[in-house]
Amino acid sequence: VQRNPGEPEFHQAVREVLESIGPVLDRHPEYARAQVVERICEPERQVIFRVPWEDDRGRVRVNRGFRVEFNSALGPYKGGLRFHPSVYLGIVKFLGFEQIFKNALTGLPIGGGKGGADFDPRGRSEREVMRFCQSFMTELYRHIGAQTDVPAGDIGVGAREIGYLFGQYKRITNRYESGVLTGKGLSYGGAQVRREATGYGAVFFAEEMLARGGDGLAGRRVVVSGSGNVAVYAIEKVHQLGGTVVACSDSTGYLLDEKGIDLTLLREIKEERRGRLDEYAREVPHAVAVSGRTVWEVPCDVALPCATQNEIGGAEAAALVAGGCVAVVEGANMPTTPEAVRLLRAAGVRFAPGKAANAGGVAVSALEMQQNASRDAWSFARSEQRLRETMRDIHARCWDTAEEYGRPGDYVLGANVAGFRRVAETMLAHGLV
Ligand code: NDP
Repeated sequence: VQRNPGEPEFHQAVREVLESIGPVLDRHPEYARAQVVERICEPERQVIFRVPWEDDRGRVRVNRGFRVEFNSALGPYKGGLRFHPSVYLGIVKFLGFEQIFKNALTGLPIGGGKGGADFDPRGRSEREVMRFCQSFMTELYRHIGAQTDVPAGDIGVGAREIGYLFGQYKRITNRYESGVLTGKGLSYGGAQVRREATGYGAVFFAEEMLARGGDGLAGRRVVVSGSGNVAVYAIEKVHQLGGTVVACSDSTGYLLDEKGIDLTLLREIKEERRGRLDEYAREVPHAVAVSGRTVWEVPCDVALPCATQNEIGGAEAAALVAGGCVAVVEGANMPTTPEAVRLLRAAGVRFAPGKAANAGGVAVSALEMQQNASRDAWSFARSEQRLRETMRDIHARCWDTAEEYGRPGDYVLGANVAGFRRVAETMLAHGLV
């Protein structure tokens, strides 16, 4: 805390991992001798830069850009870019730290990193967003590369922004280096299923979890928070697997549709019109838009938080328990506070941390890198099959590790220990670097 003052989200993420790995350090004194924990908590490199741009009225704006290259033991730094007014170093470091273990859990050759800017894309015109992306890349390009650091999207960075970032990278470097970004459009090196991967992957994980001693998602009542990239495709996959998503949300409130969210309409509003959820309620008479309240007050069997960090605190967890929730599966990064996790566990609610459950996005990004390197393009069916197998493997890794450490069903311990062991082992192999 003294070494990294004023970064509560980073402290929260580190504490959660350190609380799990005590037993690993007992079994592996060589990790302590090599100061692996101290080294893992210190980013290899952090870049903070000025992003100047001009708005449509000709006014000059200045934002702050970040790229934290946290750990390259397993491969090039890999992790998304977030554009949101709340972004500062502590948020980027928490996300980058989580990313190290998440990426390790996928079993694929990718290190951990994260970046972004305190830019708010909401209410900005297309041209303003483009100018911002171009300015951001004008500094970022010198730090990234297919063998070095490969950013992707996150909150506020979707296909549109990745397109502008890629265009500027190509222009500055005079290199058509497809593997420098993932989440690209299909016409310029993007991979099938990348757009869907995080949401689908979280639902595949939930299905695996519920299949142990249950019937999976079929017939379940599900609540999803957010209505962005992860949320939309989580809703789609729940419906394909026979569950019903009755509510979703955004930063202003939530939408309740007891007949099940109409995804075609939701996508049209969010992706094409870039509008708000109350438009849905105006067009669907039986749906209700509730502003200023938490979506977690809606009773459900399964909760999929897919919006942002710390959105389920103690009060929201208590509401979920009271509503009969049996499983919480994190599509977002760290959406559940430590207090809420304790409360859910004490009530017997099964809990899957984002590091494991939302790893589908980065896993398919790694497959995008693989396809770019071999100038290949896989079919949707093949990519989805790989995603499903990857989520099954991650689930098994967490499950088996938790059993090995005498904590059956503890996905938090399983994910942290399995991810940490792979990174620590490799850092030892590389010597003191
Ligand atoms: P999007 O920008 O597409 O969507 C974010 C959604 O969450 C929007 O509905 C947004 O509402 C809502 N939201 C964002 N911030 C807040 C806030 N402070 N309070 C309430 N609601 C908020 O982002 P993604 O779907 O890509 O990301 C969602 C989560 O998933 C993040 O935690 C991200 O780190 C994580 N994730 C994403 C991956 C990916 O592949 N995209 C991969 C792994 C994890 P509004 O529109 O009103 O702002």
